[in-house]
Amino acid sequence: AESVLVSQQSHEELCKLLALNKAAAAHEQKLVVVSVSPQSRASLAARCKLGLLETAQKLTMFLKSLGVHYVFDTTFSRNFSLLESQQEFVRRFHKQADDKKALPMLASACPGWICYAEKTHGSFIIPHISTTKSPQQVMGSLVKGYFAEQKHLPPDRIYHVTVMPCYDKKLEASRPDFFNQEYQTRDVDCVITTGEVLKLLEQEGVSLADVDPAPLDTLLGGAAEELSTHPGGGSGGFLEHIFRHSAQELFGIHVDSIHYKPLKNKDFQEVTLERDGEVLLHFALAYGFRNIQNLVQKLKRGKCPYHYVEVMACPSGCLNGGGQIKLEGESSKEELQKVERLYESLRAEMPGENQAVRELYQHWLGGWGSERAQQVLHTQYHAVERANSALNIKW
Ligand code: SF4
Repeated sequence: AESVLVSQQSHEELCKLLALNKAAAAHEQKLVVVSVSPQSRASLAARCKLGLLETAQKLTMFLKSLGVHYVFDTTFSRNFSLLESQQEFVRRFHKQADDKKALPMLASACPGWICYAEKTHGSFIIPHISTTKSPQQVMGSLVKGYFAEQKHLPPDRIYHVTVMPCYDKKLEASRPDFFNQEYQTRDVDCVITTGEVLKLLEQEGVSLADVDPAPLDTLLGGAAEELSTHPGGGSGGFLEHIFRHSAQELFGIHVDSIHYKPLKNKDFQEVTLERDGEVLLHFALAYGFRNIQNLVQKLKRGKCPYHYVEVMACPSGCLNGGGQIKLEGESSKEELQKVERLYESLRAEMPGENQAVRELYQHWLGGWGSERAQQVLHTQYHAVERANSALNIKW
């Protein structure tokens, strides 16, 4: 069933839906919403030799010309993932004396990693994985929850598409945890990769550079004037955000800049907060299968020294995801550097500073730390019996 759901998610599927929508009576039409990830936008911008805002606005116009109604940016939903992760980490830190599985907390935004953990290390690793939903799935909850309410539509009248840097996001969207039983609809109906957006442009005979710009939409209404990012790299900045926040909240220490110490390779690095020679916080990032295996072995031997690990399945993280566009005539290193430079060219924003995020916490989620925020913004994981575990692991 999982593979059928995944095969239903493609740019062809989106085209079919848009064609059906055009032919349908008004009361049967779906409201089509596309949420674009910042990693995909950077990859498209590099390929089309455009700036990030230009790319976002031209892509918005292109999608709307096909029949899409709203185009959002998943940087917005990442604010919620970062804020919930920071809060979850502090909670776990306080519990560590009574609960041996509270720490290390392991990042949850990468479905490649989650799938691997559930299928190969199941009940041992699961308690360590952050329950916070990924930016894609938070966007799913916001679009089929908040936005549907604003539009006075049931969630199944919205068709929600995300544009992502990897194929594993299709698997994530297909998880039963993100299926609304009452309305028989998924929070994210269809995931298309950055490469599939390029195919869509080619199929329509459109060069993005020639498209007129149109402003991006925002969930609270109105147009987005500019784009912003979060500090801490192309995989979302989870480590940096949680590190800064917990240094301040747990120890009253303000962290200005973060110094990474590479270990075996650039995809395994550590960050430490010390006071008078005592280690207060010890974080790491572990990208790519080799480093993840190493981390899991450390955990199994009870020798993992970290409080938090940003785990990502792809070497170099999400900007290097398998669904990104290959640049013609560039080596993979030059290609990645180009995309990274573009991605980091935006103004960095702290998630707690975003006024629209504050408003949604206050008026829709019932306040910071509320039961409703816990229910809407968190998920759960499931150990898979080892007998079935050989399936679907691509590494
Ligand atoms: Fe997808 Fe790779 Fe990012 Fe994981 S690290 S979310 S597999 S692009």
